[in-house]
Amino acid sequence: MKNKKITRKITQGVYALTTNNGGCIVDAVSQISAGANPLISVAVMKTNYTNELLKNNKTFAISVLDETVNSDIINTFGMNSMRNINKFENTETIEIENIKVIKDSIGYMICEIIDSIDNDTHTLFIGKLIEADVFNDKKPMSYAYYQENKNDLIKVTTEKGKIAWVCQICGYVYYDDELPDDFKCPMCGVGKQLFKRKEN
Ligand code: FE
Repeated sequence: MKNKKITRKITQGVYALTTNNGGCIVDAVSQISAGANPLISVAVMKTNYTNELLKNNKTFAISVLDETVNSDIINTFGMNSMRNINKFENTETIEIENIKVIKDSIGYMICEIIDSIDNDTHTLFIGKLIEADVFNDKKPMSYAYYQENKNDLIKVTTEKGKIAWVCQICGYVYYDDELPDDFKCPMCGVGKQLFKRKEN
């Protein structure tokens, strides 16, 4: 392969994916058909708890985030797992079709899951759009914008007096003196080489 980095030039956005009892931040969302109820696809990492939930739930919601979104939302939904915290506790949401959508967003799409395809790392969930609304005309955040501004968007603070390893891709923090050689980020899947040591 001459240069795989071209894949980073695929234009993607930043979204909060929610479903019953969970949710996460995703970038791979596409509209894949037209009509009154178009199909929307979203890819979710297999190691992600939200993936487990989607395999049992019938619907999901995509909230479109904008460039000025409160960083707490990206932190809460992107850097944590419902295995450990309740993401909805400190996030303002609106309940639509029995799913919580993010209030601080440009709008939402509610989809009924009709199919899913597993690959090595991700599951592609395909949903039929059953409800949607636009809240405002703010500028949608692109994945490129997120990458350029992620230091501000995910202000990672680590606990004092502890050695922390921070994932440079998603901001996940692992506390220990050393990172195991085969360590993989539980949030985004990258290896040890993309973690930076931080001590404060
Ligand atoms: Fe990560």
